[in-house]
Amino acid sequence: MINIGIDVGGTNLKAGVVDSEGRILHTKKIPLGPWQDGDYFMNQLCTLAEEAVKEAGFDKSEVSSVGMGFPGAVNDETGVLTYITNIPVSGYPLREKFQQRWNVPVHLGNDANCAALGEYYAGAGRGSRSLVVVTLGTGVGGGIVLDGKILAGSNGTGGEVGHIVIVPNGDQCNCGRKGCWERYASATALKRMTVEAMNAHPESLMWELTGGDASKAEGYTPFDAARQGDAAGAEVCRTYIDYVALGAANLVNIFQPEVLAFGGGVSAQEDLMEPLAKRIAEEDFARNAGVASVKVTRCSLGNDAGIIGAALLGK
Ligand SMILES: [Zn+2]
Repeated sequence: MINIGIDVGGTNLKAGVVDSEGRILHTKKIPLGPWQDGDYFMNQLCTLAEEAVKEAGFDKSEVSSVGMGFPGAVNDETGVLTYITNIPVSGYPLREKFQQRWNVPVHLGNDANCAALGEYYAGAGRGSRSLVVVTLGTGVGGGIVLDGKILAGSNGTGGEVGHIVIVPNGDQCNCGRKGCWERYASATALKRMTVEAMNAHPESLMWELTGGDASKAEGYTPFDAARQGDAAGAEVCRTYIDYVALGAANLVNIFQPEVLAFGGGVSAQEDLMEPLAKRIAEEDFARNAGVASVKVTRCSLGNDAGIIGAALLGK
């Protein structure tokens, strides 16, 4: 038997045919296209799933479930889309409508939570009972999986780890709060800190690395500079790692997961994980009791995690 996972993005819909072990056998991607209405959207999703199954050489009768991950809040109990970013489909009974066309078990999830579930079953969390994923990208996202269940809260919006406040009255966040973790631990924040450090340190090697143009600074710029002995670059890395560790240690102290996995572009930095794991360990409550056990690591599935997790929502 196979499962279908669909990752609903802002511009594309990507479906994967996934086996029960979380291996992707086939993928198919289509553009989201101009918005019409809920039924049109549902039909796009259904047609995409059907075509992916056919292209992979399977029959629809071999599909045990279809799972979908959305950038927003969904209610998997009722099968209704609650709020999807940039897609005006609030209140649409997607499961009911989908099943009128194809009567198969349908599951709905938040995309970040789906990615965490994918890592839980087939990636960094494989073999563990509990996993917290933190994605350091444009924002800070993530998901919490305990004993095989996504912690989605009573309304589908649980697991928004980026919006815990770590600096009271800090930077204004898009969510309305001030000082959210993602304002200090995202790739966007790292870039902002890098430019600030460059402006404060005209002698920094980071100027040379960006060809004298601060707008060309990237998240890896301070790491590259620090490796070559640049003090300003090293200071940016330290400050950034402290911010990431602060929020991460909060999560560790609440959930004490077996595995804490970081994803997103910044997590690929080779000089990030070791000092980060050390800082988290220093603030891990369990160390007082001599039972600290969280394994800090990188996510291993990349962009496939969302599709795999969506496909395994019904597992
Ligand atoms: Zn926020």
